Amino acid sequence: MRIQTFETTLRDGSQGEAVSFSVDDKMLIALKLDELGIDYIEGGWPGSNPKDREFFEQARGLKLKHARLTAFGSTRFAKNPVEEDRNVRELIDAGTPVVSIFGKSWDFHVSRALGITENENLTIIGETVRYLKDHGKEIVYDAEHFFDGYIHNRDFALRTLEAAKHAGADVLCLCDTNGGTLTDLLARIVADVRSRFGGVIGIHPHNDSEVAVANALAAIDAGATHVQGCLNGYGERCGNANLASIIANLELKLGHTTIGPDKLQSLTSACRYIAELANLPLRRDQAYVGQSAFAHKGGVHVSAVMKDSATYEHISPALVGNRQRVLVSDLSGRSNVLYQLRQQGLAGRMTEPARRALLERVKEMEFQGYDLEAADGTFELFVRQSLHPDVNFFDVRGYEVLVKSGHATATVNIETQDGFHTATATGNGPVNALDLSLRKCLSALYPRIGDVRLTDYKVRVLDSKKGTAAKVRVLVEWSDHRRSWSTVGVSSDVIEASWNALVDALRLELMRLTEADAGAAQPVEVLR
Ligand SMILES: [Zn+2]
Repeated sequence: MRIQTFETTLRDGSQGEAVSFSVDDKMLIALKLDELGIDYIEGGWPGSNPKDREFFEQARGLKLKHARLTAFGSTRFAKNPVEEDRNVRELIDAGTPVVSIFGKSWDFHVSRALGITENENLTIIGETVRYLKDHGKEIVYDAEHFFDGYIHNRDFALRTLEAAKHAGADVLCLCDTNGGTLTDLLARIVADVRSRFGGVIGIHPHNDSEVAVANALAAIDAGATHVQGCLNGYGERCGNANLASIIANLELKLGHTTIGPDKLQSLTSACRYIAELANLPLRRDQAYVGQSAFAHKGGVHVSAVMKDSATYEHISPALVGNRQRVLVSDLSGRSNVLYQLRQQGLAGRMTEPARRALLERVKEMEFQGYDLEAADGTFELFVRQSLHPDVNFFDVRGYEVLVKSGHATATVNIETQDGFHTATATGNGPVNALDLSLRKCLSALYPRIGDVRLTDYKVRVLDSKKGTAAKVRVLVEWSDHRRSWSTVGVSSDVIEASWNALVDALRLELMRLTEADAGAAQPVEVLR
């Protein structure tokens, strides 16, 4: 069955506590959702804030290939005639082909929140829907609190749907606004609505009971053919239903069609893109698209997965554009290390004893507090060092940092094959200053080291019970435009831990550059 997808990250999702988008972010996300093959993009509530109004202004220029842009708003105010209601006017002015409007389904809200009679509420719904229909809009009617309303006063809840349907609503979308309804009951209510109304029935679940995705799937099983949610599950309180998981489940497990198998392969990258614009890390354990969704750590799992990935994976990660990962850690056996070597194309170059020695080194480092699962760069450096034990680009002779009201100055001394080098640089913090000085020292000899950029920096206290004597682990992320990697340093001193991670990252880059150039440009610089 073809199921309509309705994505509301730009409206309901941005009501999440940690989520905030600029107008430019919203434009980029809308384009990305269109590219992914989403059917409806809810862009915001033009009557509620200037940013959303501005978004719809600018969105007139958006060339969407497939998706229909949707403006969200409420039914008219009780005291306003519909043609004079400012909120309804804003919906028309937004210029979108589709409008979603929410109305009250719960008698308790009608009497307590609006302070009007049930019949007045039905009139408000009918008039607003008809007025917008007369202005040529496709109407998604959001029945707010539908399930709570149905449980308290079934007859009235159904009459609100009738009012919207009679006035011409194209979709009757049932909202579990408070997210409190459990799956069995929700499915029975959807089935009852399905048996009474023709046309498209939609579902809009929230995740307060941690069953939003299950509720969406159950509603579809009960006859809904339109599903609302957010990629990554952003939204108020515990979020909206995670539309990425819903799409993957519908496509891969339930035989329905949403964005289709080709676009499904872009699901992971679309979720990461939205997380990046939201300035939030994509949850590692997020189903289907998270970094850990197909990551294997235990040695038994790893050796089985290497024989046949179906042993510990529910789908092939490529179907959703994700990839399998095997983690190197103190839990790992030789299989994990071998897998990593294969991924980096280095497996054939390492002898069995060298591999075993590498595994011992990994275990020892993890014991000291190094986290090599996150620090793929440090692991790669270990591998390259065991392949080229006699290659050394520089030795550190000393470093010092001076921090003074907001900025730091660092001096670094190193020895390379042509002698001693010293450099001093000022940065906006001690790590920044050390990074700049070290690269200043190296760049005369290795100009391409200038391409490496520090992109993220995280400090974690390893044993907080020991107070200031505790060790810290510093994780530094790097990029050289082509790829990114992380290195890790551990020490009881945060500057030293950072320094070790810096040195490792630059040593690794020099090794890579030299290997890439081997035979072509400069010979490998052997110092000792
Ligand atoms: Zn909602």
